[in-house]
Amino acid sequence: MLSTLGWTDALETAFAPHAAEGLVPARVSVAYGATFRVVTGDGEHLADSTGRMRHEAQGRRDLPAVGDWVAVKPAEGTGGRATIQAILPRKSVFSRKAAGTDTTEQILATNVDTAFLMTAFDQDLNLRRLERYLAMTWESGATPVILINKTDLSDEVDALTAGVGGIALGVPVHAISARHSNGLDALTPYLVPGHTLVVLGSSGVGKSTLINRLVGNERLATQEVRDSDHRGKHTTTHRELIVLPGGALLIDTPGMRELQLWSADTGVAETFDDISAIASGCFFANCQHDREPRCAVKLAVEEGRLPADRLASLHKLRAEQEALTARQDVMAQQIRKKRDKIGARAIRTVTKMKGRT
Ligand code: GDP
Ligand code: ZN
Repeated sequence: MLSTLGWTDALETAFAPHAAEGLVPARVSVAYGATFRVVTGDGEHLADSTGRMRHEAQGRRDLPAVGDWVAVKPAEGTGGRATIQAILPRKSVFSRKAAGTDTTEQILATNVDTAFLMTAFDQDLNLRRLERYLAMTWESGATPVILINKTDLSDEVDALTAGVGGIALGVPVHAISARHSNGLDALTPYLVPGHTLVVLGSSGVGKSTLINRLVGNERLATQEVRDSDHRGKHTTTHRELIVLPGGALLIDTPGMRELQLWSADTGVAETFDDISAIASGCFFANCQHDREPRCAVKLAVEEGRLPADRLASLHKLRAEQEALTARQDVMAQQIRKKRDKIGARAIRTVTKMKGRT
C-alpha cells in the first residue's frame, strides 16, 4: 500500500526512529491550513499539525505540505484526531512567492519525481520562459521533462522540437497532442506506480486537457465526492495527490500549474550549462559577463559561438532573482522587527504580572 504511494527504502530508513515511537508513516494528500488529509497504509485520515511544530516553525518549509511523507500519531479514542509529529526529509520542493508583492513562501508540492514542463506549438512556444521553468525545476530537486503540446497546430513540429532540444541540454522533449491523444505513449515510462508527477506551464497550453487524459474522468468524480468532517459539516473532498490509473501519482495543488519564480540559484547553473562551460575561461572567477574585461562569454557571443539571447536570458533571470531576494530581505527585516517588538512587550507583561503577585 505505502509503496504504491511512493514509499522507498530511503524513507523506511529515515522513518525508523519514528517507528520506534509507535508512529505510522503517511503521505499528505490535501492541506487545509493546520489540518491535513493524509494517506496511511490503511486508508485516509484527517491529521493536525502539532502546536509545537507550528510554534517552532521558522518558515513555511517547516510545516507539512502536499506530497510530504510524515510521521503520524494515530487518533486516540473515537472523535480524536491524528497528529503529524514530524516531516521526513524531502526529495524535492516546489515553492513560490505568494501572489502580489508579498514574499511569503508557499510550498506547492514536495517529493515530486518528474515535472512535465508544458508548452505548445502555437504562440506559447517561448524558449526563454522554458529556460526559466527548467531552472525552477532543477532548483526544486525534481527532474524536468518537456512536453510540447498541440502538434496539430504546426507544420514544423520536428524543427521546433529540435530547437527546444537545443536549449534543454539533455532534458527529454516530447511533442504531443493532448486533445487528440497523439504521442502520449512517450509518457508511459513516467507513469509507473509510486512515481510522483506535476504538470507546469502557462495558461492555455493544455495542462487541464492532459491531466484529464491522464486521470480519465476520475478527477471530476473525486471533486464531487462529499463527506463530513468532525464538526458534522459537509465539505467537498477534493484530492491534490491523485493516484492515476497506471499507479503514478499526480500532485495538482492550486497554483502548482502556474508556478512563479521563487529562487533558482542552483537551477540557473544547470540550465545555463553551456554558458558555465565557457565562463570557466573568464578572467574574473565571479565574472557576471556584463562589464568585466577579458570575459570569455562576451567573446563567445561576439564570435558567434553563443547566441546573444542566451546571455540576455541569463542576465534577465539574474535580475529577477536579485529583485526577489531584495524583497525577501526587506520582508525578513520587518519580521525581525515585529518579533523584537512582541518580545519586548511579552517581557513587560511578564514583569507587570510578577509585580502583582
Ligand atoms: P491549461 O490552461 O494549460 O489547463 O489549458 P487547457 O487544457 O484548458 O487547454 C487550453 C485550450 O487548448 C483548450 O481549448 C484545449 O481544448 C486546447 N488544447 C489542448 N490540447 C490541444 C491540442 O493538442 N491541440 C489543440 N489544437 N488544442 C488543444
Ligand atoms: Zn565573463
